[in-house]
Amino acid sequence: TDSDTADEAVRATCDDATICKRFATSKSYWKDPYIQYFVRSVGERKAPEINRGYYARVQGVNHLLDAFIRKTECDCQVINLGAGLDTTFWRLKDENLMPRKFFEVDFPTVVARKIHYIKTKPPLSKPLLETHSTDSLLLDAHSLDSDRYCIIGADLRDISNLDEKLKKFQLNPELPTLLLSECVLVYMTPSQSSNVVHWAAETFHTAMFINYEQLNMNDRFGQVMIENLQRRQCILAGVEACQSLESQKERFLKTGWEHADALDMMTVYSMLPQEDVGRIERLEFLDEKELLQQLLQHYSICWATKDKLNLGLSQLAF
Ligand code: SAM
Repeated sequence: TDSDTADEAVRATCDDATICKRFATSKSYWKDPYIQYFVRSVGERKAPEINRGYYARVQGVNHLLDAFIRKTECDCQVINLGAGLDTTFWRLKDENLMPRKFFEVDFPTVVARKIHYIKTKPPLSKPLLETHSTDSLLLDAHSLDSDRYCIIGADLRDISNLDEKLKKFQLNPELPTLLLSECVLVYMTPSQSSNVVHWAAETFHTAMFINYEQLNMNDRFGQVMIENLQRRQCILAGVEACQSLESQKERFLKTGWEHADALDMMTVYSMLPQEDVGRIERLEFLDEKELLQQLLQHYSICWATKDKLNLGLSQLAF
């Protein structure tokens, strides 16, 4: 059916993200020793503005994520929604920033692929086994559970199923919880993404939600971005929520979150540690500064908090 084709196109976007991240890390924009196990070859060259855009995305999200984990002194859990082939769990383990438990959710077919990579690549499986108390991991075709890492196949548009599966794998609603969605909510309708955000606010009393996605999709450049995805049958059902920083924040403030902030990626880029920004700007010559600016103005990070435990989560920022 049409909707199966659309879902398949959405699932394929996890490869795009990983291929671009793999290329940028091959050029030393940042380090990721694990991404090679999810995409074997470096692939064709990407334009410097694309690499800088991914740099801003990864550093921006990591900045908030790490700040949350530090604030909670690792006494927290992380849920990466639409995680794709993301490698954050392995980075956190290496940096001694591992939460009590790290959950990932994606479509069952994406999860089955990721489990296959984990099972067959010792550098990926070793950290799971090292942090696990028994010799065997709980494993089936669409989920894998260890003490500190759990990956679950589920459709985020079916909230009761999502909730049930997370609880089955010892999700703890009492623990401070970081939810992350990186280029995920935009593939759902505004009401479906609001349901996800609302479920999170209802489930956790102390939490932070980080959402990275498209912004300013109503202008000419935004229209071109939409058309490019449509050409590959990929529908951005959620662009309505991506019209402005205000609409990004509203999605959270309307669904039970206490505090929300949002920045476009041009601003985030200018607030990242400038020494490292200087380093990456010397990696590749960029002719068209305006193109980078335009690109960064069409993505945003929005983050929201609720803080019954008074940890000071609303202070987390750039
Ligand atoms: N977050 C990862 C990253 O930034 O590298 C992957 C981003 S990729 C653009 C979008 C991911 O969201 C895909 O892996 C896709 O399968 C997942 N996704 C989109 N809609 C979903 C849904 N309804 N249920 C589960 N996963 C979904």
